[in-house]
Amino acid sequence: MMVSILQMHASIARRLLRVVKVLADIDIALSKSVQDGHFSAWIGSRRVDYRVSYTPAMFGQKLVLRVLDLANAPTHLKDLKLPTWMERDVGQVVRQDSGMVLMCGPTGSGKTTTLYALIREIDVTLRNVITIEDPVEYQIEGVTQIPINESQGNSFSTMLRSVLRQDPDVILVGEIRDPETARIAMQAAITGHLVFSTVHAQDVIGTIFRLLNLGVESYLLASGLHLVLAQRLVRELCPHCKSPQKLSPADMMRLDRYGVTGVTKVYAPRGCSRCLDTGHIGRRAVFELLSANDDLRDAILADTQIQDMRKAIRSTMFASLRESGYRLVAEGVTTVEEIDRVVGAD
Ligand SMILES: [Zn+2]
Repeated sequence: MMVSILQMHASIARRLLRVVKVLADIDIALSKSVQDGHFSAWIGSRRVDYRVSYTPAMFGQKLVLRVLDLANAPTHLKDLKLPTWMERDVGQVVRQDSGMVLMCGPTGSGKTTTLYALIREIDVTLRNVITIEDPVEYQIEGVTQIPINESQGNSFSTMLRSVLRQDPDVILVGEIRDPETARIAMQAAITGHLVFSTVHAQDVIGTIFRLLNLGVESYLLASGLHLVLAQRLVRELCPHCKSPQKLSPADMMRLDRYGVTGVTKVYAPRGCSRCLDTGHIGRRAVFELLSANDDLRDAILADTQIQDMRKAIRSTMFASLRESGYRLVAEGVTTVEEIDRVVGAD
């Protein structure tokens, strides 16, 4: 959501755009092309990275600055504020020697941040951890991080192949988006490697079908897959100005339908100087977690349709994105509208 902060004169804006180009080592002579770069700045004693992107528009270039500030990002498992049972499941899986842990969610849903937080749970003095990324977003102490470069022939699959010759214990593959990477990664997961990756899918079931569609054999998926997490980011209510409200009967029925019962009081955004009158400060991740159990493995092996897969999932400890989101509403963290906006209509 956008917030208008400041209007400035066009001549000042143009100068500002040039300054950022110099900082990010971007050609200031070009103005009709797409340009990308990055720079860092020290804020006190901590380093903040900025990802810079210029796109040509009708009246000059448009600049987007993405702030990569570790101080604002969850760095460890406990910072993700997962429900207790999810944190326990995830904590167990990252201690295992082999298996596949997958994350899904749209761009900007915080998948990478979560994966990094999981990687940081691993003792890198005892286990050889290698990541293959496009691009490397944050540097992690003690981890070998490899950026891929498709134009030089270093794709996810070729890098993964060569990395496997280096006898890694843990591998993070930035994204599984082609059949070859999918197959090599799953094979690695059943041959003594703990593999983390992301998949472009809406939810955990979509992730399973995405891998099958990429040609991963069902036996491979059934034996390799350990955990799937889906994630979205929702805006948190500003704690300084959120106002208590009675839950409407319609919303109460809605929450009830997703197993979130006994809620009477919720909060609505209001707006104050601390939150720039938006009513929101910060964002919180909402998760959907699926731990593979025997029922799920049987369902995958049986080439099940989506409906049967959903049935199999009910035998596991499972909470959908919407259910997890409504629990945050019950805790006064966010609103029903925000969950419906982010998770989509049902
Ligand atoms: Zn406020």
